[in-house]
This record gives sequence, C-alpha cells and structure tokens, in this order.
Amino acid sequence: MKIHEYQAKELFRRYNIPTPQGKVARGLDEALKVAEEIGIFPLVLKAQIHAGGRGQGGGIRIVKDIDELKTCVTAMLGSNLITPQTGPEGRPVHAILVEEALKIQREIYLGMVIDRSQECITLMASSEGGMDIERVAAESPEKVISERIDPGVGLRPFQANRVAFSLVNSPMVARQISALILNLYRLFNELDCSLAEINPLAITEQGAFALDAKLNFDDNALFRHPDIAAMWDTAQESPLEVEASRYRLNYIKLHGEVGCLVNGAGLAMAILDLIKMAGANPANFLDVGGGATVEMIKQGMRILCSDPEVKVILIYIFGGILRCDTLAEGLAQAAKEFPITSPLVIRLEGTNVEQGRAILANSGLCYIEAKGMTDAAAKVVELLHNISS
Ligand code: GDP
Ligand code: MN
Repeated sequence: MKIHEYQAKELFRRYNIPTPQGKVARGLDEALKVAEEIGIFPLVLKAQIHAGGRGQGGGIRIVKDIDELKTCVTAMLGSNLITPQTGPEGRPVHAILVEEALKIQREIYLGMVIDRSQECITLMASSEGGMDIERVAAESPEKVISERIDPGVGLRPFQANRVAFSLVNSPMVARQISALILNLYRLFNELDCSLAEINPLAITEQGAFALDAKLNFDDNALFRHPDIAAMWDTAQESPLEVEASRYRLNYIKLHGEVGCLVNGAGLAMAILDLIKMAGANPANFLDVGGGATVEMIKQGMRILCSDPEVKVILIYIFGGILRCDTLAEGLAQAAKEFPITSPLVIRLEGTNVEQGRAILANSGLCYIEAKGMTDAAAKVVELLHNISS
C-alpha cells in the first residue's frame, strides 16, 4: 500500500526523522492558513499524488509571496498531474503539502527496500541524490552504495556510520545522518514497510532534513497497523483494484482484451502467458484464491464485466479447495444480477466438477467449454477474431 508524502512525513516525525515545517491543505483557505502559521516566504507547494517524478512534472512549485501562492494552489488543486512515473493517465491532485522552502546545499539519496534475492532489507544511499537518481543508478552504479541488513541482528550502528560518513565530509552532519538512518530502519521494521525512500535528503545550514518521503507498506501486515491502513487514499488507485481489494480478490488491472478469472496465483500467471503466446493480451490478473466464496466469484465477475477493455472472458478453474460447484454458483448468481455481454470460455476440472457443470447448464449462461490450457487459449483467440471481423 502506498501513502502520500505528507502522511509519510507525519510518521517520520514520530521516529525523530527531521522534516521541514509544513502541513497538508485541501483548499485555498487551508493553504493560506498553513502559510500564515509558517509565517515566512518562500514556500514550497507539493502536489500529493501516489507517484514520484513530480519535480519533473510540474508538481513542485516554489512560491515567493501570497499572490503566487494563490495562483499556484488554484491551478494545482483539482488538476490531473502527469509525471514520468504516473503513465499517460496521470493522478488527481486533491491535496497540497505547503512547506517552508529550505536552502539546499546538497541532495542525498537514502532508501531501504526488501531485497528478495538477498533475503534481507538493503540500505541504499548516494551522494548524488535528487531528481536524477534513476539516471545516476543506470549510468554510474558505483555512486550508489548499499549495505545488507542481517535480519537476525538488524541494522548495526557501524553500518549506519559507514554509509553516513561516506556521504558527507562534516562529522557533525554524518553523525546526524547516521542517527536518522537508524531511526528510518526502526520505522521500516516496526511499521512493516516494503519500501522507504528519502530523495532528497537535503543538507542545509541547519543539518539534514527529509525533503521528500516515500513509504510503501506490506499489504499482508496492514492488519497490525489499523492507523496506517486508514491512510489509504483510494482516489489515487485504479477504481477496479480498489473494488477488488474490498472483496479480498487478488486483482491487477492490465490493458489487454481477455478478462481472466482463475484460482491460484501460479495457474493465473500460466494462463496469462498462454493467452500471450496464442496472440492475445490479458486484461487483468485475477486469482480468486482457494477460499473463494460464491460472493467473491460473483464480485470478481462484476469487476471483469465493468472493465470496458474486456472483450472475451476466460474462466479457468482447477477445483481443489475451491470447489467447482461454488464457482458455478457464483457465476449463476452473477448472471442473474447483471448482464454478461462478453463471450465466455469456461474450463472446469477437479472437486465437484459434475455438480458444477450441472449448475452452469441450468444457469441460463451462454458459454463455450474448453478442455485444457491450449484449447482454452485457442477458443479465446478465435472468439476475439470473430468479434473484430
Ligand atoms: P519528486 O520529484 O516527486 O520526487 O518530488 P521531491 O519532493 O523530491 O521534489 C523534487 C525537487 O524539488 C527536489 O529534488 C528539490 O530539488 C526541489 N525541492 C523540494 N522541496 C524544496 C525546498 O524546500 N527547497 C528547495 N530549494 N527545493 C526544493
Ligand atoms: Mn523525490
């Protein structure tokens, strides 16, 4: 799960990570109030969206007086911001972080990620932080240093020191950065992050400040952190994905024309490959999971049917823990409640398959049965050809 920069900075303050003074505003009045509280110009206006690259996309503005603040806030709020990281559809700006503008001497990059190949959290840093960090990492990877954090003993102070002292020359600032790194690690661990990034960590005359803040969280651990789960801004996410999460469906929107409903993540991925190999493109990944109920199947179908990109639907089920009759019952209920206009290919095998077939046969649903993977993919592609010709 992603959260906004202003929310990440609230969490930073809890963990004694220095941030610039500032607050979020959702309207011009609020922005003016925050400006008054800070009491000094210039200020920075930062569009709050679930994507980076805002500096390059016009989402970060430095304003030098009230008039400029009014113009910029009015233009930003309600706009759709497109940055190198949002894709062409952009993200809506409903909130702006209004902050004191600090005088930056240098911009440093600090990040922590879960490195699956190393089976640990890895700390990364670069003295060449700021908006071009991706280019630095690609063109001069030696300028990014990293430190593997042993999960058994956690981040040790000597590691934080090693990184901090390699980033800056001033021992005072290095000590401050070292403490900041240890605090960031504590936050990462205690709050079950999957990613934490400070880019830039700004060096100023007053020391180091987290000028930007990005935190992602492990969805599977959110039940331990209701206060963080409540921070989710659904306006920033694909509406179908938000809907799917409400029913605990593992759904990811893709941009092909074949809607897929599958049980099991491995089977779902195999089906996506197969659709591709047969010359079509999947419209989504949808694993309804072993514990899927009739309701979950029905809602999964509703999501597929409300996706305008879906032209054909493939249902591929190997009944194990999810029984075929449960699946069929979900489809039958879906057919009663909303129109299923795309042609349907169904492959059912496994537990209670005969009961499942009987339910489908009496459901009034119009569908084509497939036998096995290759047959299913071929039938889907044939239907697509028929639709387009
Ligand atoms: P991102 O592009 O979405 O990652 O947004 P950032 O928060 O990292 O801001 C982008 C850039 O704006 C930073 O790298 C800074 O150069 C600049 N910036 C942000 N806040 C301030 C500030 O308080 N003062 C100054 N001078 N520049 C800032
Ligand atoms: Mn940034």
